[in-house]
Parts: sequence; structure tokens; C-alpha cells
Amino acid sequence: MPASTHTVTNQPPPLVDYDIFAADPALTEAVARHASPEHAEAVRAELSELGLGAGSAEAQEWGRQANEVPPVLRTHDRYGNRIDEVEFHPAWHRLMDRAVSAGLTDAWSRPDGQLRRTAGFYVWSQVEAGHGCPVSMTHAAVPALRREPAVAAEWEPLLSSHTYQPGLDRPASAKAGAIAGMGMTEKQGGSDVRANTTVAVPLTGGGAGDGEYVLTGHKWFCSAPMSDVFLVLAQVAGDGGDGGAAGDGGAGADGGGLTCFLVPRVLPDGTRNTFRIQRLKDKLGNRSNASSEVEFDGTTWARRVGEVGRGVATIIEMVAATRLDCVTGSSALMRNAVAQAAHHAAHRSAFGGILADKPLMQNVLADLALESEAATALTMRLATAFDASQGDGELAAQERALLRLAVPAAKYWVTKRATPVVVEALECLGGNGYVEESGMPRMLRESPLNAIWEGSGNVQALDLLRALQRSPEALDAFLAEIGKARGADHRLDAATKDLLAELSDLDGIEARARRLVERMAQVLQGSLLVRYAPAPVTDAFCASRLGTDWGTNFGTLPHTLDLRAIMDRARPEVP
Ligand SMILES: Cc1cc2nc3c(=O)[nH]c(=O)nc-3n(C[C@H](O)[C@H](O)[C@H](O)COP(=O)(O)OP(=O)(O)OC[C@H]3O[C@@H](n4cnc5c(N)ncnc54)[C@H](O)[C@@H]3O)c2cc1C
Repeated sequence: MPASTHTVTNQPPPLVDYDIFAADPALTEAVARHASPEHAEAVRAELSELGLGAGSAEAQEWGRQANEVPPVLRTHDRYGNRIDEVEFHPAWHRLMDRAVSAGLTDAWSRPDGQLRRTAGFYVWSQVEAGHGCPVSMTHAAVPALRREPAVAAEWEPLLSSHTYQPGLDRPASAKAGAIAGMGMTEKQGGSDVRANTTVAVPLTGGGAGDGEYVLTGHKWFCSAPMSDVFLVLAQVAGDGGDGGAAGDGGAGADGGGLTCFLVPRVLPDGTRNTFRIQRLKDKLGNRSNASSEVEFDGTTWARRVGEVGRGVATIIEMVAATRLDCVTGSSALMRNAVAQAAHHAAHRSAFGGILADKPLMQNVLADLALESEAATALTMRLATAFDASQGDGELAAQERALLRLAVPAAKYWVTKRATPVVVEALECLGGNGYVEESGMPRMLRESPLNAIWEGSGNVQALDLLRALQRSPEALDAFLAEIGKARGADHRLDAATKDLLAELSDLDGIEARARRLVERMAQVLQGSLLVRYAPAPVTDAFCASRLGTDWGTNFGTLPHTLDLRAIMDRARPEVP
């Protein structure tokens, strides 16, 4: 309908109803090169279906609604009974349903499972990031549970199910699928989980089985508290345990210490376990997702997972997988922001021409696209390493060693790039970008989170130092990986040489850890782009990120590069 005062012109069409997967060459090419040949077509088709769903106007609207109407805590029912439930907008459940039914919690037993799931998580989280939290934790709980085969036999089929069945009206064993969360962080310490004071006491008598405990204490951050089950750290009385920060494998136990427990919301007989949700956090972003404070009152039933005193070593299996999802989530956020910016600039005119034709805007968009493409390439390489590291043999050991350095490096670097990328992409939309309905403010609020949870920036950098000191095979695997691109670009070769010099100098290494880690991440990204990306992308990345031909803000690439080619590659084609 024409407006009565004016005609609306020069506004871009909505970026909806397109295949988010197919419109992303950096992603489709990565999936094609890493997928096993016999599964490549099936994986592509599956991701394309998810991409069409993610790009639909309907799903985008679910994302908006789930954030506009955040979850509400219901501590009691109308009669005063404690229920500790969280109420969500129906759009949240639609998002969860689609994610679970697309297999985003099922990676550990399918061929190319990590690759297809990581790519799927990347595609689907562009609809909405908040529900990625329980999706991620459900997927990630499996390797930790496998430390206790009887527990895994019970829970793994539920967690990797493709059926989403919310609600606490029955025990999980009577459901077709379950969702998992985790509780590590307490008021007095998060990174340093050795400070945990929650206590676990073994249940004895009355038919209590081996490995049953009751918990007393609290968790200061516990996201997705409506989930069916949680992996929780608590102290068992005794003479110590593995200690270690949340990046540490631990050192062995003797009689007690920090231990991992499984805490279900509903007990096998259908009654509620004691799981007191005190408050929901009022967060900067991630507003669709409920993050809570929880208390355990001495009757909270728990089952031990892994050895007593080896809690960190057990739960780190979960954290390794959620850290990959932090990298994936931030890569997806950057991709989404760049796609929005490139789309806007392709349809908006100023000063007599399309913005995307203006040389300076091309520089900004190309610079942003480089950051996004490098993040995507690294994410997908990590996913492949997760797949390859599952088996036995030399390749699996090599890939495990690579992950030991590449995961903290990527978790540190990629998650930290998200905020500056989103800020600059937002500005490409001008004033519209600052307005909520563009979706950019939601992305901006979300952008710092992946750097904080699952081990903040410094913790990642220190974890990488620890791996360098304790696992010499990890550095060998890392150098072998970047060595695959040796000789292909002189700037990559020079950056690798400088990195080796940095690595061999231990003076002040703790204070230098961030510098070292970011260089390792960039060199790894550069080596992947040199091997796989088109020449304009490789050339620009090596000149700016590995060389010195770059300014401080985005949009400062050397003008002689093929900026248009880089920018065009990042622009989603909408039919
Ligand atoms: C939205 C949200 C949801 C969350 N959900 C969960 C959840 O479901 N379950 C859960 O267990 N936790 C959850 N967390 C908690 C999160 O994992 C922690 O906040 C995070 O690990 C940091 O711990 P902390 O808050 O105790 O900070 P601290 O450990 O006090 O760290 C503060 C700062 O000090 C730095 N630092 C720490 N140690 C060192 C050192 N040795 N040298 C230099 N710097 C150091 C850190 O990098 C950080 O920047 C959530 C957090 C948020 C924001």
C-alpha cells in the first residue's frame, strides 16, 4: 500500500527466504572438502534443508519473538508448592524442536558426525543464538558421560535423540529425548573451579546403590535450568583430587576431591529432585536463554560420573566440545553480520551510486568478509579434527594433539573477533543498524558471550601455555598442520618463522600469552586459507593479518587488492 505522504524507496529487500548454507561459499566449500566422499552428498542435502529453514521468514520471526519475550521463572505453583520451572515463549520451543530434530545434538555416532553437526550448528544458530546453549550442552555431555558406561547407556540415547520433548512431568527414561546442562561456576570462583564448595556425600543404606550421593551447595551460573539433567562438580570429602582449572586434565586422586555428578531434575520414580532455582540472570544479551542461580539442599540426589577426585578431568570432555561450539557460534555470528552488511550495501544507494560500488565500502566489506571467512575455515577444520580424533591409530592421535592447541587458540581468537566485526557490520547499515528490528543490536549484545563462558580469554591463553609445556606432541601436530602450506606464500612463511622464535622464548611467557595465542590462531587461519581459499582472499589475508599492510580499523586493506571479489564472495544471493 503506498504511504500517503511519500513513497518508500532505497531500502533493501528483507534478507529472508534463502538457503543460508548454500549462500555461504566459505562454508559449502569447507564441508565439501572435509566430508567423506561417500557421505558428501547426503551431508550437503541435509545442510541445505536446514539452511532453507534457517533463512525462512518464519524461523527468523521465531528468533525475534524468543528474544522479545524472555523466559520467566516460576518458583511455585498456585498452591505454594515449589516447582522451579521456567516458562518460555512458544517460539523458543519451535527453535529447540527444529535444532534437535535436525540432529544438532547427535554427533558422536554418525559418520562425519562432528562435521555435519558443526556446520548445522553454524547455519541454524544464525536464526537465534540463545537456544544454542542447551543444544550445545546436550551434545557435549555425551563424551563426559562415557566415562561412566552404565550412566552413558541410560542417557546417551536420550541426549542424541532427534525428538525434542520438554517438560518435567515424568522421568527422562519415559521420554523420547532429553536436554542437558552443566553446573561448575560458583559465587567464589568460575575459572578456578578448585574453589567449588558444593559438597557431595555418599548415600548409604536404604538400598542406595554404588555411586549415589546427595549434594549441598549452590551454582552461581546454571544455564538452561529447565533441562532434564545436569553435569555438576562437587567436592567429595577426602584428601584431595585432581585440582586444576577448567582447562586442566587433572593429576590423579586419592580418596576425595572435586568430582563430576549427574543430577536429574526428575527422579526415576517421577518425583522432583531438589533443584532450587533462586533467580534468572538479567543478562546483556542471550536473552532468550534462561541462565539461573541454583541451590542444592542436602537432599539433591546425584550420581557419580567418572572417578572420585577426577571431576575436572571428566567434565573437561564436555567443555572441549562446548568450546568448539563457542568458536562455531562466533563464526556464525560474524557470518550473519557480514551477510547482512553485504546485502544492505548491495541494495542501498548514496551519493549517486550503490554503496557496494563505492571503493571505501568495498574495503570495509572485504575486510569484514576476510575475518569471517578465516573464522569459518578454522571452525570447520576443528570439526574435522574432532571427527578424526575419535578413533585409534596415528591419525587420530595426531588430530587429538592438534586440537589440544587449536581449540584454546580458536576459542580465544575467534570469539574475541566477533564483537569488532559485528560493530563494523552494524555501521554498514547506517542508522538502521542501530535499530532493534534490523537484528544487529541483538547480534551485538550476543557477541561478547562466547569469549566469556567455557573459559574466558585469559584462561584459554593460559590453557594453551599449559598444553605447550606438558604436551610436546601438540606443538608437533600444530607445526605439521601449518607446515602443509609451507612455501605457498612468503608472508605465511615469514609469520611462521616469527612464531617459532616467539615460541622458543620463555621470558615473560605468561604476560605474553595473549600475543602468542593470537599469532598462533592467525597463522593457522592463514595456512588454511592459503591451502583452500580463492587467491583474492588468501592474498588479502596474508597481506593484512600476516604481513604488516593493514590499519587498525576494518576497511584498511591495501587498495591494490581485489576487494570486489572478496566482497562479492561474501554477499548472499537471494533468489
Ligand atoms: C550468560 C552466562 C551463562 C553461563 N552459564 C553457565 C553454566 O551453565 N554453567 C556454568 O558452570 N557456568 C556458566 N557460566 C559461567 C562462566 O563459565 C564463567 O562466568 C566463566 O567461566 C568465568 O568465571 P567467573 O565468572 O568466575 O570469572 P573469574 O574466574 O573470576 O574470572 C574473571 C576474569 O579473570 C580472568 N582470569 C582468571 N584466572 C586468571 C589468571 N590466572 N590469570 C589472568 N587472568 C585470569 C578471566 O579470564 C576473567 O576475565 C555462564 C556465564 C554467563 C555469562
